[in-house]
Amino acid sequence: MEAESPRTLRSGFLHSCEHHGDRIALEVAGETLTYLELRERAAGLAATLIAHDPREPGSAAPALTAVLGQRSSATFAGILAALFRGDGYVPLNPTFPPERTRSMLERSGCRALIVDAGAESQLDRVLAGLETSLLLILPESRDVTDVARAHPRHRVLGRDDLEAASAWSPRPVDPEAIAYLLFTSGSTGRPKGVMVRHRNVQAFLDVMAERYGITPDDRFSQTFELTFDLSVFDLFLAWKSGARVCVPSQAQKMLPAKYIQESKLTVWFSVPSTGVLMSRLRMLKPDAYPSLRWSLFCGEALPVEIVEAWVDAAPNSTVENLYGPTELTIACTLYRWDPARSREDCELGLVPIGEPYPGMEVLVVDEELREVAPGETGELLMSGPQLTPGYWNDPERTAAAYQRPPGRDRVFYRTGDRVRRSNGRRPMVYLGRMDNQIKIQGYRVELGEIEAMIRREAGVEVAIAVGWPITSAGADSVVVFISDPGVDCAELLTRAKSSLPAYMAPREIRQIPDFPLNANGKVDRKALLSLLEAD
Ligand code: AMP
Repeated sequence: MEAESPRTLRSGFLHSCEHHGDRIALEVAGETLTYLELRERAAGLAATLIAHDPREPGSAAPALTAVLGQRSSATFAGILAALFRGDGYVPLNPTFPPERTRSMLERSGCRALIVDAGAESQLDRVLAGLETSLLLILPESRDVTDVARAHPRHRVLGRDDLEAASAWSPRPVDPEAIAYLLFTSGSTGRPKGVMVRHRNVQAFLDVMAERYGITPDDRFSQTFELTFDLSVFDLFLAWKSGARVCVPSQAQKMLPAKYIQESKLTVWFSVPSTGVLMSRLRMLKPDAYPSLRWSLFCGEALPVEIVEAWVDAAPNSTVENLYGPTELTIACTLYRWDPARSREDCELGLVPIGEPYPGMEVLVVDEELREVAPGETGELLMSGPQLTPGYWNDPERTAAAYQRPPGRDRVFYRTGDRVRRSNGRRPMVYLGRMDNQIKIQGYRVELGEIEAMIRREAGVEVAIAVGWPITSAGADSVVVFISDPGVDCAELLTRAKSSLPAYMAPREIRQIPDFPLNANGKVDRKALLSLLEAD
């Protein structure tokens, strides 16, 4: 085994294999895997990728491998296998509509796909009409003859076809290469692929490891889908330090209280919506979670009441609010909750987003991207080691979001978030979005993407989506308005539900005679919300 230099996303895991090989790396679906056992599985898959998907020497194309699966041991091993091979990984989610997954697969240009047992039944629809030939690895299936027969264009390998783990030996990986490619909702109707380099994610993990002093005795929650970048924290921060990643099943995720207690978690990381759910279900009772050392929230606005209840429920833990878009690598500002004085730092009932990570630079700007005076509201722009290089094969949308403000010599990412930063000792506060992006139960959703889909499907010119019902952190779901009388809304709703991931699918499509307009002649979204409120 090797100590890696330069370090990339897999390095922490490999280091822990050397120093904590017999400790548990992963606890999932009643199965526990030590570091060495997980390494063995990943190495076998990596050797198989190398043996069956040779790369042209000197090829300039970035190398990526896709993994289709839920949070199963095969999926985790698949992600590591992609990294062991020297590729970036592209997580694909079997709960998404297959057409969406196919489009991500196609656009990423992956030539190899690792599929867990739970996702195999989706393969027919994911692969339908795919132009390229893939190497398909089904590491949990012994007999793959049926799959191979159904997909003659692709090379299909099952468990018995895997190479021995010993056939894999690490080759150096460029820290500038892509560690993972994540697709996020795109306002024009096409998801954007955010490219994250090893160097970006290493910078993030280094800050986190130092701040939280993680040890091999820690046990991390793993509540996020792998298509959500917050999952990278759970996996790779734990694995960097020889700690254990505890993955609740879908059913256990519904009852997080029991899971935290039984798994003796020490590090909790979730979207605030999970805290809201736990509060509603009366799971935030005083001293309910004494094992927790750290309670971390990220992904959407964090309501004060949730933190206050959480502090009582997990009295031995420190609560932090992490903020960040995928484009700035997981999280890039944070705020530590101090029960004695933090309430007065809050605005709009939300916990501040605090200070930038070391090395990250903050600019709060007006519409011309000129810095506003301290204490004034503006759009948050950030730059630094966690700034990702842009969107996959999409120079136009990259240029729109990654910009060089006047008088600056470096590129900043435009977050689209409205914030205020004073020059006193008060932390930066989050005040909302500049655009039509919302968070639904923590998932990032461009309302424009839903609108584009409805316009296309219904052949109408205008469709307006609003988040509804509104919650303190975002919205629970979406309602779409259209004004064309001839549309069958019930049928359109069924089509929308089958082509969008569940969290993006509208709960209702409503016909109204005319759209209300605001003073600028634009559709007045607030008036649409009032219609819903009046119901
Ligand atoms: P994503 O790329 O899915 O992580 O979504 C990024 C967006 O989520 C940010 O631009 C914010 O709008 C929102 N967000 C993330 N963390 C926070 C937070 N702690 N407070 C408020 N909004 C947040």
